[in-house]
Amino acid sequence: MKVLVFLEQRDGKYRSICKEALTIAKQLGASVAGVAVGAGLESHDELSKFGLQTIFKAEGDAAKQYNVLTYADAVADAAKSWGADCIIGGATPMGKDVLPRVAAKLGSAIASDVTAVQAQNGSVVATKPLFAGKLLGTIELSGDAPKVLSVRPNSVPVEEGAAGSVEVHSVELKPADARLKLVEMVKSDSEKADLTEASVIISGGRSLASEENFKILEDCAEVLGATVGASRAAVDAGYAPHSMQVGQTGKTVNPNLYIACGISGAIQHLAGMRTSKYIVAINKDENAPIFKIADYGIVADLFEVVPALQKKLQELTG
Ligand code: FAD
Repeated sequence: MKVLVFLEQRDGKYRSICKEALTIAKQLGASVAGVAVGAGLESHDELSKFGLQTIFKAEGDAAKQYNVLTYADAVADAAKSWGADCIIGGATPMGKDVLPRVAAKLGSAIASDVTAVQAQNGSVVATKPLFAGKLLGTIELSGDAPKVLSVRPNSVPVEEGAAGSVEVHSVELKPADARLKLVEMVKSDSEKADLTEASVIISGGRSLASEENFKILEDCAEVLGATVGASRAAVDAGYAPHSMQVGQTGKTVNPNLYIACGISGAIQHLAGMRTSKYIVAINKDENAPIFKIADYGIVADLFEVVPALQKKLQELTG
């Protein structure tokens, strides 16, 4: 089997999801290639430790500004020229934009936001959380066209091996399609990992009561190396921007540790975070639904617990 990984980058730097997607491709026992689209791409040497054997580079000014049509064309062209059986990328905002278009171009079956992938008798079988994570579905992708999958970040522990040599090919970049023009790109001020890729998240709800109070979460996040998230009630109240919202109408996250501070645990919030590996809930109400899915629960006032947690962590980490 030949697996082509969509190597997502920002400002030329490969995102951590690339290592996960490469690990999955390697676990499928496949020949592994990657396709990178952009300008000023960093060295791909590091990626060879995660299984990259061949890289298709669609590099140039036409790809400096993100344009989904240019990106999807380049990925589809690389898949065709290499004869890929399967294409894997991240279920990140960019992956969710590019990969369905690639599937449409190639006439492929697609499974998005999957958490595990296996090869079975020539077809590809994926596991996908369904109904807000309450069920795990098994999806078999078949057909002659390359099967397309997007993987939920933090689903698979990355496997690092020895660096190897990587065969380099180039893919011709088509001129940007005039039907779609990127007018503006607004970057988040945060230097922290994006919520969808973060391995530790501390989130606040309506109970934070003001934008200023979110600072206690930010201070604690600083010590924990965490990214700060929010419930929709906090976002609607103007305490946090929508880019921080976790849930059905916000981001789907999958960190190793999710700390919910003063969040009740409405089904729409759980839809975005219930696959987190460990969930810690801090809530004044011992009957809050969040405690039903929490691994550890603290029934207390978050304004006391969060600063105390930060202090203790600071002592432990120096
Ligand atoms: P609340 O429900 O008001 O809960 C506040 C909690 O804080 C309570 O449990 C309370 O006991 C606790 N508390 C209060 N003070 C303290 C304190 N000092 N210390 C500790 N605990 C305290 N919600 C999302 O989050 N994400 C979504 O993407 C989303 N999408 C939605 C889509 C639709 C179509 C709909 C209808 C709703 C959606 N919602 C979403 C809203 C969701 O239903 C809830 O209203 C929302 O999640 C509640 O946010 P909350 O837990 O912060 O607030």
